[in-house]
Parts: sequence; C-alpha cells; structure tokens
Amino acid sequence: MLQSRQVDVAVIGSGPAGHVAAIQMIKLGFSCVLIGPAHGGTDGRTTALLGSSVPYLEGLGLWDAIKSEGQALRTMRLIDDTGRLFKAPTTEFDSSEIGLEAFGYNIDNNRLVACLHSALGGLEMSRLIEDQQFASSVALGGDRVHIDMADGTEWNARLVIAADGRKSIVREAAGIEMRKWSYPQAALVVNLHHASTAHNNISTEFHTKTGPFTLVPYRDGFTSSLVCVVTADDAERLKAMEPAALALELERRAHSIYGAFEVISTPQIFPLSGVMAKEFHGPRAALIAESAHAFPPIGAQGLNLTLRDISTLADVIREDGINDPGSEEVLVAYDRMRRGDIWSRTAGVHMLNMSLISSLPFGQGARTAGLALANMVPTLRKFMMKAGLDAPGRIGWTSAAMKKHQPKL
Ligand SMILES: Cc1cc2nc3c(=O)[nH]c(=O)nc-3n(C[C@H](O)[C@H](O)[C@H](O)COP(=O)(O)OP(=O)(O)OC[C@H]3O[C@@H](n4cnc5c(N)ncnc54)[C@H](O)[C@@H]3O)c2cc1C
Repeated sequence: MLQSRQVDVAVIGSGPAGHVAAIQMIKLGFSCVLIGPAHGGTDGRTTALLGSSVPYLEGLGLWDAIKSEGQALRTMRLIDDTGRLFKAPTTEFDSSEIGLEAFGYNIDNNRLVACLHSALGGLEMSRLIEDQQFASSVALGGDRVHIDMADGTEWNARLVIAADGRKSIVREAAGIEMRKWSYPQAALVVNLHHASTAHNNISTEFHTKTGPFTLVPYRDGFTSSLVCVVTADDAERLKAMEPAALALELERRAHSIYGAFEVISTPQIFPLSGVMAKEFHGPRAALIAESAHAFPPIGAQGLNLTLRDISTLADVIREDGINDPGSEEVLVAYDRMRRGDIWSRTAGVHMLNMSLISSLPFGQGARTAGLALANMVPTLRKFMMKAGLDAPGRIGWTSAAMKKHQPKL
C-alpha cells in the first residue's frame, strides 16, 4: 500500500522562493513539507535583494546569514550608451538621499539557497520535512490537496504553495491559463574580477540599444556580476569566446570603467520572456514566484516581487487562516492583494525594456525625459528610488523598516 502523509502546508519547488515560503509557514506554526530536488549549486546568477526584502528576511531570522555573503548596493548609476540622438544624462541614485545606507545587497544564488537551506536545519524539525524529489501530480479541491510523488508516496495538505516555476504542475492542475510573451533578447550572465578599480558599492547600468549591460557589486570590493542583455545571437557569440577574449570584449562594452576584467565564472544564457498567470490562486493552492509571474532581469525585481507574494500570503493567513490556511477566503484575499504589485512591476519592466530596444522615438524620448527630470527634481528622484524598491502602496512602510534596519557597510 502507498504511504500517505499529512501536513498543514506543502510547498512544491525548492528554489529560493520555496525555501522562504516553507520557513515562513513553519514560523506561522504550521507543519510543512518542502518538496523538490536538492539544489545543484550550478546557478550562475546573483540576486539583488532590495527594499522590503531586507526587513522581511530579517523578520524571519534569515538576513544576517544572507547579508554576510553579499555586497551592499549603495549607488545605482545609469549611463545612456544607446548612441542615439537624444541621449539621457548619466544619472546616479544614492541610497543616502532617501535616508538608507544601502538599497539592498547582491548575493550569489547558490550561496543564497545554501543560506536558506542551512536555516531549515535550525527550525523545529518535527514540523518541517524535506522531500527531495519531484512531485508527479497534484489533485486540488475538497478539504485537502493530494500530491503524488515520483517514488509512489503521497502527501496530503490543507494548502499547497506553488513555487515550482514556469511549468508549474500546481497551476496546470488548477487549470489556470498563462499569458506568455517573448523578447528578441537573451541575458548573458558572468562574474568578473577587476583588480585595478574597486566598485565602491556602485551598481552601473549601461543602457544599450539591445538592453541593459549591468555590473553589480558581487563577492568583494573588486568583483562584479554582469547581466548583459543582448540579441540571442550575440549572447551565443559571447558565450563561445575564450575567457581572455570575452574579458576584453566586456571591458570594451563597459568602457573600461573598472579597467581590465578577468572572467571568474562560466557564462550562462537566459532567454528573455514574460509570463503571468490569469489567477494567482486555485482550490487550496497559492501561486507564487515564477509559477505566477516572470519577466526580464531588468531592475532586479523578480525574487523581490516573490518575497512580497510570500509576505502577503503570510499576512492574510495570520489574519484569517490560522485554522485553515487553504480556505477560499484566504486565497481570494491573497489573489486580490497581489494583483496591483504584480501587474505594475511586469508593466514597468516591459516598458523600460521596450524604451531601449524600440526604434520608435516616443519610448526613447520618455526614458530620456524621465532621467533628465530625475536629475533636476529631487522629489521625483526620491519617488523613483522608492518606487524601484517596493510596491506602490508599501513605499512608506519600506522606508521606515529599512531605516530601522540600517544595514552596516
Ligand atoms: C539573469 C537573471 C538575473 C536576475 N536577477 C535578479 C535580481 O537581481 N533580483 C531579483 O529579485 N530577481 C532576479 N532575477 C529573478 C530571480 O532569479 C528568480 O525570480 C528566482 O531565481 C526564481 O527563484 P524560484 O525559487 O522562484 O525558482 P527556481 O529557482 O526556478 O526554482 C523552482 C524550483 O522548482 C523545482 N520544481 C519544478 N517542478 C517541480 C516539481 N514537479 N516537483 C518538485 N519541484 C519542482 C525546480 O527543481 C526548482 O528547484 C533574475 C533572473 C535572471 C534570469
């Protein structure tokens, strides 16, 4: 007979989103299973954790470990490298202008998952179980969700949290449709050492005709992670280069602001596309992270948006769902509360990307004018900085919480 085990909450997907969701559910007092294969440690990306992500992770007791692995982002510098007639002025946003010591921290994804995974060990183990394999199918509805595992075992839970990515089996079981779109671009991701010049905790984004070329402080004062958004062909061409030739080419594209580069990781390519679920909940199911939304890596928004999914879900459960975290009431409230933030972030990233790659003068002009105005009007600059960090309705909360937090550089 198949083994069937019961928990309050099942989280499917063991990436950063799934780990944080499981830790959050344990902190709310539920029993929880985290389902998904062990992390392979092969993710070449880094994640800038910004704004409300910092106090939120601090509240879960996770921040000190994560922060010790990351680099502070104190200044964001935008440089127009489109070579177009109407050139935007170089713009620098400094976190001190909005009373913060840093906008956030950039951390290697493998180290981030390792930190989160070791935090699982500190939790009350009787209430947290890890099942390091794929879930093969999910049956939603009724009083409990049934999850069939690859090894033939089964889990029953009152709530399933879908953190299983763009091809989510939870979303599929709920019959939720996706809007999907693609971009004629890909992101080449690689880490670089620049021995002659320190980054001074500045993140530099060159706006090019094919997308942003962004250098973000990485492991120490003399390393940066690069997200280089180019055409798919150009990304393949760069990836095929020998490390020394690639370093030279990237130094050229960075206008030698940090002197010579040394390539210190294997380049990886991520094709750019967008997805958005038409609903963010199903019967006894909450969609979070890339099962619900994904968009190009511009402005460091993806995982930060996901952390707001999880904190909102926790808020509505605390309010109305301690007795039944998968009730219709909780999930409808979660869905309603996430719409504005997810829609506005997705639209904002889309418009910023299109303003770079579109040949239409309107989008280009709007970006140039926006940055010119930001340079001249301090109130607008401050608004843009705060808007980049958090959901519109939570900006004040973020600033207050981050000021209290005051990360030390
Ligand atoms: C180049 C690039 C740069 C980025 N930079 C930033 C940034 O600076 N800041 C930011 O906030 N965001 C950033 N993002 C977005 C961020 O990386 C993603 O949002 C985040 O990594 C997604 O994590 P996740 O846990 O949601 O998904 P994943 O890491 O994809 O995890 C999904 C997990 O689900 C598991 N899974 C799938 N199906 C099943 C199943 N049936 N059963 C069990 N498990 C299953 C998979 O094995 C996987 O472990 C960036 C993205 C890219 C592409």
